[in-house]
Amino acid sequence: MARHFDGGRLVIASHNPGKVREIGALLQPFDADVVSAGELGLPEPVEDGDSFIANAVIKARAAAEGSGLPALADDSGLAVTALDGDPGIYSARWAGPDKDFEMAMQQVLDALGDAADRSAHFVCALALAWPDGHVETFEGTVHGTLVWPPRGSHGFGYDPIFLPDGETEAFGEMDPDRKHAISHRADAFRKLVAGCFAKG
Ligand code: IMP
Repeated sequence: MARHFDGGRLVIASHNPGKVREIGALLQPFDADVVSAGELGLPEPVEDGDSFIANAVIKARAAAEGSGLPALADDSGLAVTALDGDPGIYSARWAGPDKDFEMAMQQVLDALGDAADRSAHFVCALALAWPDGHVETFEGTVHGTLVWPPRGSHGFGYDPIFLPDGETEAFGEMDPDRKHAISHRADAFRKLVAGCFAKG
């Protein structure tokens, strides 16, 4: 059984204020007094893991050790089947220093060439670490097909080229509430809440 979060302060191991706000809102019903790694002045660790889970664990452990508090980290990206899972943990890096996702999406298309298999999935890994070194991890996914040209202007990153299975709209076209109900992040958070936050 997963270790339970017993309330009180929880560090969100991210320096991205948008992500901290979003995670804080998701955990609001659970008695978590959320503070970000950025606010605590914690350094950002080198993310040199070889998987989404490994990178989430690196970030959560560093924040828990640095703060003496439980810490939650996430790591996510797009895995394309015909590219052996690329861009994967390098999803942000494919967009370069300017975070140019039009270029990153074009790179995915170019790498795919005329491959018949256009399937892909998004992954979201979550790690909740305690100062004593204990870590719980959860992984969420959403499967779909890559489309071209990019569709819609909602969301971020690779959303305009991802058509989730069973849907008629790409993530880029979708109402954000709908995306947040079916996304890899929603899947991972449901598992985290069930394992570590749900009461009773
Ligand atoms: P990070 O977890 O914030 O480092 O995000 C990694 C990268 O994965 C992002 O910069 C995006 O390129 C991609 N990514 C993760 N989640 C999504 C999503 O929900 N939609 C589109 N792209 C995503």
